[in-house]
Amino acid sequence: MSDGRQLYQEVIMDHNKKPRNYGVLADANRRAEGHNPLCGDHISLSLRLDDDLIREIAFQGETCAICKASASMMTANVKGKSVADAETLIQEFRDMATGKLDTATQSHHLGRLNVFAGVRELPTRVKCAVLPWHTLHAAFHEESSATTESGEF
Ligand code: ZN
Repeated sequence: MSDGRQLYQEVIMDHNKKPRNYGVLADANRRAEGHNPLCGDHISLSLRLDDDLIREIAFQGETCAICKASASMMTANVKGKSVADAETLIQEFRDMATGKLDTATQSHHLGRLNVFAGVRELPTRVKCAVLPWHTLHAAFHEESSATTESGEF
């Protein structure tokens, strides 16, 4: 087993055992639901934006392990960031998962999220990993629901 693959499995397991920012925000001012019919993932995202800053973010839902780990890491990464910085991460994460961004050779801001780079070799799992990010994008744009079947992927 390669180091990358082992790290990937450790991260998925860790975030499934102890998901970060799991729950619903009572004082959220942005909410969105995400669906991935291919796998059956469903995620609810709630955020509190202060001007352009993501002050609080939480997620819950019925998801597979990859989707949950991705959501957990996403919330931990974007909390305290500006919407513009989070949009950059959304784009880079999508590009990494779909193989448009090669994180080994191209510059990016993904940090530890790079652990999901291997998902591009598992085409049926790409949508699971990307769903939370797609849902975050919908929340910023005040669309109440997102689906991986919108043709953007
Ligand atoms: Zn899934």
